[in-house]
Amino acid sequence: MTTTINLFTSLSKQLKASSNTLKSFYTEDPITGNVVIHGATNNRPKAYAGEIIDCPWDNPKTILLQRGNAFLVPNDFPALSENSASDPQLDYLANNIYRICNARGECLIVIYSKQHKGHWLTLNDETLNDVVALWAMSTKRAQEKGFQYAHIFENDGPLNSMHHPHGQQYNLMDIPPFQKHEIRRAQKHFAKTGKNIFDMVLEAETKNNERIIYENEDFIVFAAPGAKWPFQVRILPKKRALWVFEFSENQQKQLADVITKVRKSYAAYFTNKYKPTFMMNLIQAPFDNEELYRQVYGFRIDIFCTALSDKAEKLMFSLENATGLIAYSTTPEEIAEELRTTTGE
Ligand SMILES: [Zn+2]
Repeated sequence: MTTTINLFTSLSKQLKASSNTLKSFYTEDPITGNVVIHGATNNRPKAYAGEIIDCPWDNPKTILLQRGNAFLVPNDFPALSENSASDPQLDYLANNIYRICNARGECLIVIYSKQHKGHWLTLNDETLNDVVALWAMSTKRAQEKGFQYAHIFENDGPLNSMHHPHGQQYNLMDIPPFQKHEIRRAQKHFAKTGKNIFDMVLEAETKNNERIIYENEDFIVFAAPGAKWPFQVRILPKKRALWVFEFSENQQKQLADVITKVRKSYAAYFTNKYKPTFMMNLIQAPFDNEELYRQVYGFRIDIFCTALSDKAEKLMFSLENATGLIAYSTTPEEIAEELRTTTGE
């Protein structure tokens, strides 16, 4: 054990010393396949925590993309290194076990509005439609810049470091571990059945409407069986797509609508009781093999929430962290019923 730790420490030092421009790198656990980004910025100014007076997003200086009230800007404290010609090409195999390589990519902020106060539910429909349209533009931009994967997400809760309505986007040079795993499963499913797993899930949920929380013209949102978090919900388009930029203007509006409906339900259900951390993730196809993904994969939004009930938080301890088996007592049908009947309207 001591030898391994020493070897690892030594490699990290070598990597850090090898270039002034090297900011972050990945390490991979060869047994589990778990990947860590080393290099998340810890020198974030204290002023960024909590309420601040001079919020840089009230008047963003560097604007990469704009759609109405919504802006795409660089993250001033990125976890990933930008591409740089002077970076060494790293793919170290220490002892032929530990793979360490540059963590390259782009960390961006999606500013929903220049208005500092508020969150998704306080923004008007026009602004929310701008946000979804900006997601489409920023995903297209990632594809055109040669990234392999774009992950758009939002964390919202009392622990947020910035209380300005915003989400984030990570543009990656590789497909993240969970998505690699999902795609392998989707390929196997297609090989076995000749069908796309997303089509089958949509069909199953439409037939069994007990788990559906809300649906509009183009999307359904339902409480998914096998969800990691008790209050996890999934949004699927009724017509399968791979990326948010494939949705028409009307579908983009419908997407904003379905997100707003489910967020209203959460907000109404947890009012004055318990404030869980809310996590929204656009899970899109990678960009490297459209033909394959068109056949086996699909776009979705997974919304997680750390609540176990309206009074308590679901915590992940030994069983969950070591085995991936997750224990809680509620069923997706019960969660769907709670969120369907607590609409906040
Ligand atoms: Zn602000």
